[in-house]
Amino acid sequence: MQGKGLLTGMGITFKRLMGKKVTVQYPEKKLPVSPRFRGGALDLDLDKCIACGLCAMSCPNQAIDLSTEMGENKKKRLTSYKHLSGRCLYCDLCIEACPTKAILWDKNYENSQYRRERLDVDCMERARRKRPARQAEPQTGSAGQTEGGE
Ligand code: SF4
Ligand code: SF4
Repeated sequence: MQGKGLLTGMGITFKRLMGKKVTVQYPEKKLPVSPRFRGGALDLDLDKCIACGLCAMSCPNQAIDLSTEMGENKKKRLTSYKHLSGRCLYCDLCIEACPTKAILWDKNYENSQYRRERLDVDCMERARRKRPARQAEPQTGSAGQTEGGE
């Protein structure tokens, strides 16, 4: 019986050895994440955000720290927007509450840090860096802040 079990085991090992690989050489190679994956920091679209603050109000753990001001056209605009990812529960309530779909997950799962404050992500700063230079807005309220992961 022992010999048969050994042969069966060796057979499975040999089959797996020759078969299609199911693992990847991380971190050189990464698997695509699911579309429903919640992770990383909030990716803010400055063109869509109307500075309503609903995302921060819907957050059960005060993980969104934003401030606004009244613009010249009597419309509110953001002056700072931080996602305190160390406090985030990844419950998705902020994204569901946003009326203009201005926030999404950046899906970055490599965000471990040595210091807690490095988990605070300046979403406005990141959004500005992603924007083409011609669309850049005046730098208000976020000067001197650093972003988690950098
Ligand atoms: S996912 Fe939940 S905990 Fe995290 S910022 Fe959004 S509402 Fe707050
Ligand atoms: S809910 Fe959406 S539109 Fe309102 S402040 Fe938050 S990100 Fe901007």
